[in-house]
Amino acid sequence: MMGGQNSKKPLTSVGVAEAHAGLAAGQFTSVDLTRACLDQIERVDGALHAFLRTSPTDALEAAAMADRARADGDARPLLGIPLAIKDVLMTNGIETTAGSRILEGFVPPYSATAVQKLKAAGAIILGKTNTDEFAMGSSTENSGYGPTRNPWDLERVPGGSSGGSAAAVAADEAPAALGTDTGGSVRQPAAFCGIVGLKPSYGRVSRYGLIAYGSSLDQIGPITKTVADAALLLEIIAGVDPQDSTTMPVDVPDLSAALTGEITGMRIGIPKEYFVEGIQPEVEAAVRTAIEQIASLGAEIVPINLPNTELALPVYYLVVTAEASANLARFDGIRYGLSIDGDTIFDHFRQTRGAGFGPEVKRRIMLGTYALSAGYYDAYYLKAQQVRTLIKQDFDRAFADVDVVLSPTSPTTAFRIGEKVDDPLAMILTDIFTTSANLAGLCGISIPCGFDSDGLPIGLQLLGPSLGEEKILRTAYAYEQSTNWRLRRPEL
Ligand code: GLN
Repeated sequence: MMGGQNSKKPLTSVGVAEAHAGLAAGQFTSVDLTRACLDQIERVDGALHAFLRTSPTDALEAAAMADRARADGDARPLLGIPLAIKDVLMTNGIETTAGSRILEGFVPPYSATAVQKLKAAGAIILGKTNTDEFAMGSSTENSGYGPTRNPWDLERVPGGSSGGSAAAVAADEAPAALGTDTGGSVRQPAAFCGIVGLKPSYGRVSRYGLIAYGSSLDQIGPITKTVADAALLLEIIAGVDPQDSTTMPVDVPDLSAALTGEITGMRIGIPKEYFVEGIQPEVEAAVRTAIEQIASLGAEIVPINLPNTELALPVYYLVVTAEASANLARFDGIRYGLSIDGDTIFDHFRQTRGAGFGPEVKRRIMLGTYALSAGYYDAYYLKAQQVRTLIKQDFDRAFADVDVVLSPTSPTTAFRIGEKVDDPLAMILTDIFTTSANLAGLCGISIPCGFDSDGLPIGLQLLGPSLGEEKILRTAYAYEQSTNWRLRRPEL
């Protein structure tokens, strides 16, 4: 049977808060926990390929240090807790490739601010997780190093682009992970893998040290087993950073305090445009049941309109490819990673980029360069930015009336590996419910809300206004605590 509830919980099943409590109570040591995660990776990652690389020696050494620090009274919130990091985030001294062959062998001399903050809170880096190349994709099949598989069904994708992080957490290889979300890449893989993924508001988390994809859209977010862990990790990584001028100069709220279980009177908007043809009936049914459940907890369900929803995908794919084409210009074979000599400097660029980038990345650079080129800029890029404003205004109007907007995270559950690789448009359609949040700078979370008849997890998405993380976390927590979905685990 798939996903039976284990009577004896293995050590690797812990999330962050549980790990913290167990470590603090002396039930196990950080060395025990880190070794258990490394053993689990050893046991299952040959089949899953969630990790591109691990750092076992450094991780165990850091764990031993954490145990000694704890004995000396250190009680930092993440002390001795091993975490997995998506490979688009710089990790000082640990190879970082963004899932691309063009960065093979690149070892950064510094860590991303988000990674630094986790480490400053005591966390241990277990390893780097697989991703679609430069985070471009929805299935992790675009990785230059081979796909990741879904722990619930090895023939299926884990979602993407943070598929490695989501699979690692779902398969109990790590208590939690960081992912990045440009158009859904934290929320959709969390949905496909039956766990929690939180995309913070634009500007909430510093992107210093994140290999940029779409700079007006990218955010780093936690992928966790519980809503409480997502709140805790966001509290730690959030905040203004002089190294990223887009971070918002606001205090980080006490997000854990929002987890009261109480949502009486909260107004939950249901956009009619999100329940349309093409959505898998079991996904719609599970989300509708979740809506009833949330209503029974005392929230008010409010039908709303987001009339420009159908424009979100074309606008997103114009904006994101344009920004990607500019961001990826830096990979020229001179400063980082792969370098292939050519007869002239242009030939050098051509050889390096031709060999180093995969087909999806090349497609997007071409699309984006076209959209930005003289004569087409006004028709495509500028027009897309104008429609982006309309999409944002839809949400501004909605959030004047409701606290949270609820929808499915993805129109389907995890699809089969290979099913959509030759059909880029079908792949793009999987992002239909997630890209708007990035275009409008909103926060969003995906939480488990059921399983389909193949035993695959279904995700529920809650969107909040910019800096409205307390609202989505409060709602997500109340729903999570009133259901048992999180207790079902994949069997590997
Ligand atoms: N699937 C979307 C894309 O390919 C989103 C990716 C992401 O959020 N990084 O652009």
